[in-house]
Amino acid sequence: MSLSGERRFPEPAVRFCSSAHSGRRGRGRQCAVRVAPSFVSNLSTPVGTGWQEPGADFSRRLRRHQNDGMPMPVDDSLVRYPDGTTRCRAAVLAVTVSDDRTFVLTDQTPFHPIDPRWPDQGADRGALAFGDNSAPVIDCVIGATDGEQFFVGDAVPVRRGEPGWSFVVVHVLPAGPSPREGDSVELAVDGEYRLQLSAGHTGCHVASLALNASLADRWRKTVQSDGLGRPNFDQLAIVSSTIIPDGAIDTYRIGKSLRKKGFDVDGLGLALPDITAAANAVLAGWVGSAATVEVQVSGPRLTDLREWVCALPEGTVRIPCGGTHVHSLSEVEAIRIGLTFNEAAGELVMTTSVDRPDALAAGARLLPAGQSR
Ligand SMILES: [Zn+2]
Repeated sequence: MSLSGERRFPEPAVRFCSSAHSGRRGRGRQCAVRVAPSFVSNLSTPVGTGWQEPGADFSRRLRRHQNDGMPMPVDDSLVRYPDGTTRCRAAVLAVTVSDDRTFVLTDQTPFHPIDPRWPDQGADRGALAFGDNSAPVIDCVIGATDGEQFFVGDAVPVRRGEPGWSFVVVHVLPAGPSPREGDSVELAVDGEYRLQLSAGHTGCHVASLALNASLADRWRKTVQSDGLGRPNFDQLAIVSSTIIPDGAIDTYRIGKSLRKKGFDVDGLGLALPDITAAANAVLAGWVGSAATVEVQVSGPRLTDLREWVCALPEGTVRIPCGGTHVHSLSEVEAIRIGLTFNEAAGELVMTTSVDRPDALAAGARLLPAGQSR
């Protein structure tokens, strides 16, 4: 589920898309203090983009240059990705240069950034074009500024909604030519990679609902329900979620606290094949229904509430989510899950895979002649 405001944040207080943000818009567009802000970044998020150095952690204070004294943004970034947009023109608001990276803030963006607090869906890939130049966007993360300080990634010290702070999408470019503040630039996301992540993320959500359905008869007490009225195993047990191209990996903790809430673990390992088959049958029915999928937004900015809304045959389900999604289950051919249970560790892992017609065609083109899938 993603950048975001996930269904899955164990503490609602840190949920990205919370209604607590709804009141901050009255702040107006007053200028921030005209000083070069101090800068701290930490991009050591667990989901890489392919270009990101693994484990890169370079928290430090940096100068801002190429800066003609433009103030840091006082509003949260306008984000275009919730409706599937992959490119747009934008105005550069701030450029911050480190030894080997350039951090670019724009007034709007089609790039989905990774959220270090719940890094399920990774950053979009793509390019930023300015003048006759084009630079790859090697990472994209959430940052925050109070006008005097600028923090990136998990170095951000405040929560969304903190008075006086703006949350922004930070485009990370490699060292080299970069745009200047005030420039008009073209931001273009890698559409195929976005589609793979969108399919994986939608698959992740429907798979979690199918898992809830197939585990429903193991609950001995009443607990919170999902959008279809079933005990919400997913929400109660989720530890981590990782969206991968055309799939997802979700890890659940099955320990004392879940047993206390009424979840029956007896014979779970032996029952896994039946549970998996039941979930996959549910998923086949849902995919066959060609249910529509939509990301509904409460506003156009990064911190506004966004919800994944899917019109399944049993009912319409809404899940807070900051990620990207396909528009209909008709865009996929199949969604399947696999389950593994490590009883000693109390850990259940669900692997979701999504088949798309386009992906199969693209994959076949990559295989050597004479080889079939
Ligand atoms: Zn989500």
